[in-house]
Amino acid sequence: MNGQSHKLRLYARIPGTYALGPGFRFAIWVQGCPFRCKGCMTPDALPFSAGESIGVEELANCILSVPDIEGLTLSGGEPFAQAQGLAALVSTVRQERDLGVIVYTGHLLRNLRDKAISDSGIAALLACTDLLIDGPYEPKRNTGQPMRGSENQQLHLLTERYRQNMDIYASGQSRQIEVHLTRHDAMLVGIPSGKQLTMWQQFKQSSA
Ligand code: SF4
Repeated sequence: MNGQSHKLRLYARIPGTYALGPGFRFAIWVQGCPFRCKGCMTPDALPFSAGESIGVEELANCILSVPDIEGLTLSGGEPFAQAQGLAALVSTVRQERDLGVIVYTGHLLRNLRDKAISDSGIAALLACTDLLIDGPYEPKRNTGQPMRGSENQQLHLLTERYRQNMDIYASGQSRQIEVHLTRHDAMLVGIPSGKQLTMWQQFKQSSA
């Protein structure tokens, strides 16, 4: 897949985190989401018109400049709203390095598979995803399970790459959160409890 002609609209990117999957990962939050989950952790990522526009080749080079990452975590916003561009990004990066890919989506996997029949971008992004976490965030079901914000969300292994990690998650490994400083802001990274998210939002409001 040729990445040169694709552009992505991003809410944020972090060159390294341990809080969004196995190992050290480059994390990308795309800009724009059709869902409106109550308690969404990234409300500023919901409008499709905001964010940073970046070419796939430029972002791929940025990712490849980080030496020690095991993979990418794609979140948002809604990654499948920019599926063609993200699939091109993964394809471009994997021409150089065998990086794992984790995707968080508000869609259900079965619906994505239905859409993939007529949408080549969705099919391509599903085809290059190793682990998919699907479904909308439901704050009343934020029960502390690793890798997901609420227990209605499911972890789907789409390849064998992270099978061993599923055992670790099933054994009740705790979540992690980190605070990162971006160019203009501070950002909470990872999967917080409802209480942690409320405290973070209050902190952000008080420091605005
Ligand atoms: S799908 Fe994710 S980004 Fe979209 S509204 Fe729900 S929690 Fe927020």
